[in-house]
Amino acid sequence: MAYSGWRIIREALTGNAGWRPVWRDPEPKSEYDIVIIGGGGHGLATAYYLAKEHGARSVAVLEKGYLGGGNVGRNTTIVRANYFLPGNSEFYSHSLKLWEGLEQDLNYNVMHSQRGLINLFHSDGQRDAFARRGNAMINQGDDAVLLDREGVRKHLPYLDFEQGRFPIYGGLYHPRGGTARHDAVAWGYARAADRRGVDLVQNCEVTGIDVEGGRVTGVQTTRGAIKAKKVGIVVAGRSSQVAEMAGLRLPIESHVLQAFVTEGLKPCIDQVVSFGMGHFYISQSDKGGLVFGGDLDFYASYAARGNLPRVEHVMEAAMTLMPMIGQAKVLRSWGGIMDMTPDGSPIIDRTPVEGLYLDAGWCYGGFKAVPGSGFAFAHLIAQDRPHESAARMRLDRFATGRGLMDEEGTGAQHNLH
Ligand SMILES: Cc1cc2nc3c(=O)[nH]c(=O)nc-3n(C[C@H](O)[C@H](O)[C@H](O)COP(=O)(O)OP(=O)(O)OC[C@H]3O[C@@H](n4cnc5c(N)ncnc54)[C@H](O)[C@@H]3O)c2cc1C
Repeated sequence: MAYSGWRIIREALTGNAGWRPVWRDPEPKSEYDIVIIGGGGHGLATAYYLAKEHGARSVAVLEKGYLGGGNVGRNTTIVRANYFLPGNSEFYSHSLKLWEGLEQDLNYNVMHSQRGLINLFHSDGQRDAFARRGNAMINQGDDAVLLDREGVRKHLPYLDFEQGRFPIYGGLYHPRGGTARHDAVAWGYARAADRRGVDLVQNCEVTGIDVEGGRVTGVQTTRGAIKAKKVGIVVAGRSSQVAEMAGLRLPIESHVLQAFVTEGLKPCIDQVVSFGMGHFYISQSDKGGLVFGGDLDFYASYAARGNLPRVEHVMEAAMTLMPMIGQAKVLRSWGGIMDMTPDGSPIIDRTPVEGLYLDAGWCYGGFKAVPGSGFAFAHLIAQDRPHESAARMRLDRFATGRGLMDEEGTGAQHNLH
C-alpha cells in the first residue's frame, strides 16, 4: 500500500478500513542467502539496500526484541554532516544526501527537518579549530558558516553569552543539519524492506554463530537454527557479545548514554544547539518537548539506564547555557548502550571469518549514519568489497594504523569522548 495525501482522504471517507499492517510477521525459514543480526536502524537499512540496490531476494533480519526498540528509538535524533577527518567526512556527507531523498525513497514520512545545527565555541583556539572543520566541510561539498558572537545571538538570543566559565565567542553553523523522527526511520526502512521481500523476524535472538572451516554457515536462534551463506552483525551496543559467538574479540567497549525530554512547550528553540565545553546539546521536538543530553556515564555497562551524577551534570550544563530552561519540567529520561571504539569512528568491514561481516562502533553518533551505513554495509555484503564511502572504516586499523583514527582527538580515553 503506497502512502499519499489521496490515500489519507480516501481512508478518511471510508472509515479508515483499508489500512494494512505495515510489515508482515513471518516465521523464520530454515535457510537464507543473507542473515542480518539486529533490527535497529542500521540492520533494517542494510536489508533494504541489499534488496533495492543489489537485488538480494533471500534476506532475513533477526531481531531479539521488537523493531526499533534499541538505540534507533532511544537517540536524540540529530542528523548532520559536520565531520572533519577524511574517511568520516565523505561518509557522513553521503549519508546526509541519502537523508535528503529518504522520504520519497521509502514513501514514508520520517519528519526529517533541516532546521540547522550550531556548535558553540568559547575561545580563540576553539574558533580556529571550528574554522578548519568548516573548511573541511565546504571542501567536501557540505555547508558551514562561521558565526561570531552577534551572529549566534541572532539565532539563539536566549543563551547566556556572558557566563563566567565559558563565555560564547561564536559558533559553527551547519544549515543542512537538523533532526528526524527516530522511530519513524526504523518503521520506514522496515516497511520498505518488507515490501521488497525481506523477512523481518522479531523476538528472535541469535544465540550462536556457526562457523565451519573458517567460513560462516548460519546462526543459532531462540527460534531454531537458520543456515546462511552470509551473515552481517549490526547490533550496536551488543557488538562485542555477538562477535564473541564467532570467536572474535572487538576493539569496542559498551557504555551508557542518557537523554532527557521536558513537557511540551511552545516553539522556542529553532535549531539544534551543541555546547561541547559543557557536554550538552539540545533541540525541540515537533511535539514541543525540549530534547537534550550530555556525555556518557563513565563506566562500561550493558544496562540501558543511567545514573544520577550524570543527570546532575547535564542539568547544570543546561542551566549554565540557557537559564530559561529552569522553568521547564523534565518528563522522562532514558539510556542506550553505545558501542564505543577507541577512536570514536565506526567499523564497516569483513571479519577474519569468511562470509561474516561487521557494522559497529557507532558510538553516540550512529543515528545520522543510518542511511549511509546501510548503503555501505549492503554494498560490502553483496559485493565483498568496501563501498568507497566507508573504505577507511577498517576493523584492523588499531593493529595496523591503516584506516580512520581519532576524529575526536580523544584517543583511547573513553571519558573524553
Ligand atoms: C541517548 C542517546 C542519544 C543519541 N543521540 C544521537 C543523535 O542525536 N544523533 C546520532 O546520530 N546518534 C545518536 N545516538 C546514537 C545512535 O542512536 C546509535 O549509534 C544507533 O542507533 C545505533 O545503531 P542501530 O540503530 O542499528 O542500533 P539499535 O537500534 O540498538 O539496533 C541494534 C539491534 O540489535 C538487536 N540485537 C542485539 N543483540 C541481538 C541478538 N543477539 N540477536 C538479535 N538481535 C540482537 C537489539 O535488540 C537492537 O534492536 C544516540 C544514542 C543514545 C542512546
